[in-house]
Amino acid sequence: MIDGVTQTPPLAVRKKTHCHFCGDTLEQRVFENRNRLFCVRCDTPIYENPVPATCLIVTDADDQVLLVKRNVDPQKGFWCLPGGFIELGEKPEASALRELKEETGLSGEIGLLFDVLSHPNPFYGTVLIICYTVSRFAGEPIAGDDAADARFFSFKALPEIAFKSHARLIGEFFNNGKAA
Ligand SMILES: [Zn+2]
Repeated sequence: MIDGVTQTPPLAVRKKTHCHFCGDTLEQRVFENRNRLFCVRCDTPIYENPVPATCLIVTDADDQVLLVKRNVDPQKGFWCLPGGFIELGEKPEASALRELKEETGLSGEIGLLFDVLSHPNPFYGTVLIICYTVSRFAGEPIAGDDAADARFFSFKALPEIAFKSHARLIGEFFNNGKAA
């Protein structure tokens, strides 16, 4: 199932076909009680794990939440929380704030670790999403990398959210998260 709430046709999860070490064709093999990709030439399983990403809940003085309009697939044209994939060697908090700056132009400070969840994704299999709140920010939102627009929205007048996971996080935040 695609990670989204829209009518975009589901995309098949892309499967790896070749070993990224030696280039040989991979086979399926039961290893450590799971059906895994296996490289016979390297004599090793090719482990696949969730891909870590961050997202941020940024609210303004009017209690509106910051969203960015995606200009890349998946879910191009729909709105989501700012965030993205963590780079190698990057701390999650720093990654989240980097994405905020790149996508919206805002500089921010991390508030709380709000939630962690994993979610199916058509390109990556499973994405592990680390969601933080932002306690303070500076600047006015201006759409940057991967974003066609960046704006604050009232919880009562949200546009269609690109990902179920983000919609759930926004709902949690406005319904009960702020009391925590
Ligand atoms: Zn190999």
